[in-house]
Amino acid sequence: MFGASEDPLHQLVLEHGQRALHHADVLVLVVDGRDGLVPGDRAVAKVIRSLDSPVLLAVNKTDDRRAAAAVDEFHELGFEPVFPISAEHGTGVAELLDEIVKRLKERHRTDGEEAHAGEAAELGIAIVGRPNVGKSSLVNRLLREERMLVSDMPGTTRDAVDTILRWHRRAFRIVDTAGMRRPGRVARSGKVEAVSVLAARRAIEQADVVVLVVDAVEGATDQDGSIAGEVEQAGRGIVIAVNKWDLVKGQGPDFSADFDDKLRFQLKFLEYAPLIHLSARTGERTPKLLELIDTVAEARRTRVKTPELNRFVEEVTARNPPVSPGSRHVRILYATQTGIAPPTFIFFTNVATKFHFSYERFLVNQLRERFNFVGTPIRLQVRRRKARGA
Ligand code: GDP
Repeated sequence: MFGASEDPLHQLVLEHGQRALHHADVLVLVVDGRDGLVPGDRAVAKVIRSLDSPVLLAVNKTDDRRAAAAVDEFHELGFEPVFPISAEHGTGVAELLDEIVKRLKERHRTDGEEAHAGEAAELGIAIVGRPNVGKSSLVNRLLREERMLVSDMPGTTRDAVDTILRWHRRAFRIVDTAGMRRPGRVARSGKVEAVSVLAARRAIEQADVVVLVVDAVEGATDQDGSIAGEVEQAGRGIVIAVNKWDLVKGQGPDFSADFDDKLRFQLKFLEYAPLIHLSARTGERTPKLLELIDTVAEARRTRVKTPELNRFVEEVTARNPPVSPGSRHVRILYATQTGIAPPTFIFFTNVATKFHFSYERFLVNQLRERFNFVGTPIRLQVRRRKARGA
């Protein structure tokens, strides 16, 4: 951040700041609203206008009425939009942060998450699970039933093959289907597991959404738990597909609910993952799986606007104030979403702190409910709001 005044140090700051200015991705010019537009502001504006970085103009101290009234003067500098803020009270800061993040994203569009944007975007789908749960059958069923245009193309690793599946206006790229068709059936117990976890990890890395396939007869195992952990850590979306449901259909009215309860208990930290019963053999509910994948992919890329997010923060903290391990009184001042895929939030607080584990979980669950983050992990950071001028 960079500011001006009529201070004799001004020229020095200007010179010293030059190097930083030339390397900045976004420049924020902070002016003092109480002083109104002063010649020093014009001088700095002139310098930074000649650089090729985007410039945001923040008029500070607008908690003061005189400063608030002076905001309009600053449009003369030609930087739009102008952000009236109060660093001391925190007003307007969230909007400014949002804009900074947006500009940064624009600058780095090609090397970051936004690379997914646009028409040609394909959604990477990894279908993972233990050998014999029906992964290959499921892929074949999806391809057949949806009468998709199918093409095999070389994947990134030597013998990996990706399959493209078109559904409505989406293109799903099912990653590493070759690895899937090569189950380690011959290996003795233990060895099979290790091999398929490795294969799964590679597929997960390339995916946006992971379908964890579980066998309806056998239920989930520890290995499913560790795959699920990989998915969560990698920040991928997830859907749990219980396959071979045709085999358990005559099991009585409670079977379904009991099965789900047990599965949810075993994969405890995946409570946010949608669960579907289906059959690759009969094709029952397989189209619904594609819908779920699509929903999760959308949720994972959802961006909440800062004002909306902060209304949420106000409501939630009014009902349930933050709990942190320290004894100091903690307040959440505002929050901003800094990323998608997976959605990532920073909560700014009055003091340096961590939230209590259970409070963090509470916030994540509330975010999930309010903004419909189905099937995606959510990342949350807590940061102390920097003191004025820092
Ligand atoms: P993968 O190792 O996970 O790819 O599993 P496969 O697709 O090779 O399937 C393993 C076995 O389960 C095969 O004999 C399939 O015919 C069978 N199978 C797959 N899906 C279903 C299903 O929905 N219902 C039933 N009854 N059998 C299935």
